[in-house]
Amino acid sequence: MSGQSPDSATKPLLGIGSCLAGNAVRYNGDSKSANQHVRALSEHFDTRPFCPEMGIGLGVPRPPIRLVGDVDTVRIVDVASHEHDYTDKIQAFGQQVIDSAPRMCGYILVKGSPSCGYERVKRYADDGRLMGSDQSGVFTAALHAIDPLLPLEDDGRLNDPGLRESFVTRAITYHQWKTLRESGLSAQKLIAFYTRHKYLVMAHHVPSYKALGRMLADAGSQPLEELADTFIATLMNALQQRATRRSHSNALFHISGYLKKRITDAQRQRLATLIEDYRTGKVPLIVPITLLKHHFADTPDAYIDQQVFLDPYHDSLGLRNQL
Ligand code: SF4
Repeated sequence: MSGQSPDSATKPLLGIGSCLAGNAVRYNGDSKSANQHVRALSEHFDTRPFCPEMGIGLGVPRPPIRLVGDVDTVRIVDVASHEHDYTDKIQAFGQQVIDSAPRMCGYILVKGSPSCGYERVKRYADDGRLMGSDQSGVFTAALHAIDPLLPLEDDGRLNDPGLRESFVTRAITYHQWKTLRESGLSAQKLIAFYTRHKYLVMAHHVPSYKALGRMLADAGSQPLEELADTFIATLMNALQQRATRRSHSNALFHISGYLKKRITDAQRQRLATLIEDYRTGKVPLIVPITLLKHHFADTPDAYIDQQVFLDPYHDSLGLRNQL
């Protein structure tokens, strides 16, 4: 099966806010304690810490900075005078980070930071009045502008089981994509990659599942690099759609169709009941998935065995116990 082992020689690489990684780099010389989910991810991924404010030469301790301006002209400046503008330097540091870590498949940001916040960062007027909590940090916005497919989350949002599962799924998928690209692209490899991810995409977004199938059926008609870019953008955007109990159940029923002649009527009925129990919220996703995996362990199917959907990440992360 396709799950990621924590002992894999090529663990996926996440960027992480340096203060969250335990380094005393905040403006006042503190670090920020990582919650249990950040700590768990740090065991399953390689992590590389970055601090944009230190990266542009601001020391510790340093005067605090904040976002100031109108929504479409926001700058990051010092709190005391608003006269020192660090926007361009922090944006340039974003490019430096992307260039220095080409294997990076996701980034754990820092809630509320004017540099590293994911969303709802405070924005002030020139006179110091709070105008709203409606921004991403400047470094975050730079990362997204440079690589819109890079999965981003902050430590606060990772407390949400659905967002956490989505982040891990997308990061591992992006890691696998980067690994494929490094090995050299071909139309065959592209099709094999999609074949493995089919039911995962179906569980998130059926229109993308259909669009990707059409795109690859026509694989010979456009330059490979162009096709690859459109393909991975469509796939990653599909995975960004939040999977629901209904959409997961749809994928589970499709996969259970492959067991048709391999299990008894009673076993089939039990499986259908469990999928329905999952759909209606009585049991978590791990329950029907586990039964499916037991059946396919007894009667292996080469096509289903390669499906990432059944094993997208290491079980010990426990992500499907809470979905
Ligand atoms: S939030 Fe970002 S800029 Fe601030 S200390 Fe942490 S890593 Fe550095």
